[in-house]
Amino acid sequence: MATDTATAKEVLGIYQAGSTHMVGDGFPVRNLFPSNDLDRHVDPFLMLDYAGPQYFEPTDHPRGVGEHPHRGFETVTIVYDGLVAHRDSAGNSGVIGPGDVQWMTAASGIVHEEMHETSWAKHGGTLHAIQLWVNLPQAKKMSAPGYQTILNTDIPAIPVDGGGAVRVIAGSFHGRKGPARTFTPIELYDLQVKSGTTLALPLPDGHTASFFILHGRASVNGSHTAGEAELIVCTRNGSHVVIDAEDDSRILVMAGAPIGEPIARYGPFVMNTKAELIQAVEDYQAGKMGHLP
Ligand code: MN
Repeated sequence: MATDTATAKEVLGIYQAGSTHMVGDGFPVRNLFPSNDLDRHVDPFLMLDYAGPQYFEPTDHPRGVGEHPHRGFETVTIVYDGLVAHRDSAGNSGVIGPGDVQWMTAASGIVHEEMHETSWAKHGGTLHAIQLWVNLPQAKKMSAPGYQTILNTDIPAIPVDGGGAVRVIAGSFHGRKGPARTFTPIELYDLQVKSGTTLALPLPDGHTASFFILHGRASVNGSHTAGEAELIVCTRNGSHVVIDAEDDSRILVMAGAPIGEPIARYGPFVMNTKAELIQAVEDYQAGKMGHLP
């Protein structure tokens, strides 16, 4: 019997936000995971918070999340609308706007703040963003912190037949490599497709794969249609998916090699064991993760 080398990944399910809450006073989010208990199906991704879109009135007191720590993973912020300002204890800072991505490696520990940018807040506007947490393997959790500002113009956009583009943030598509440096193999694409477009998307066999619809309506493998703010989760097995856009759609494609290690979480810390979480809290309280300048 012939082996089918082009097996499609299968759809495991479609999920809606499992919880909604405010992060600080600036980011009203819908959480897709971990609230839906998808851990092993989205490994190496730990968390997806979908912020807005929400309009904020003009203010002289920018909203956001004040000083707080992280250890053991990376936070990836993708801005679709609005301006977000970041400052951290490693001395990094930056402002990201529509199409930009901030890839912050907390690793051994960092303290940062994430705020609406001051002049943007003064004028008011619509905030629309995603924050994704990317896990680190045990061997890398205590690496030095890092920070990558990835601007819209740094991200290659590969045109798609029928209209639209695949913007490659991490990994590669059709031989074009995304700018993000990652610790484990990851494909992260901002996909924009016109209504009626069919796109075959190669994604490595063995990688988890999920698709978050920011707007529009699309199906995977000819069935399982999902709409706005829904997450389509696929199997690791299979080496591609076929996406059919039933509307002009914008989709965040998240795929990666699963890390497959135990996960211990406590708020802003994600380690492998409870003892490491206790150590993280102690180190933070002792000021070992630093302070904002
Ligand atoms: Mn944070």
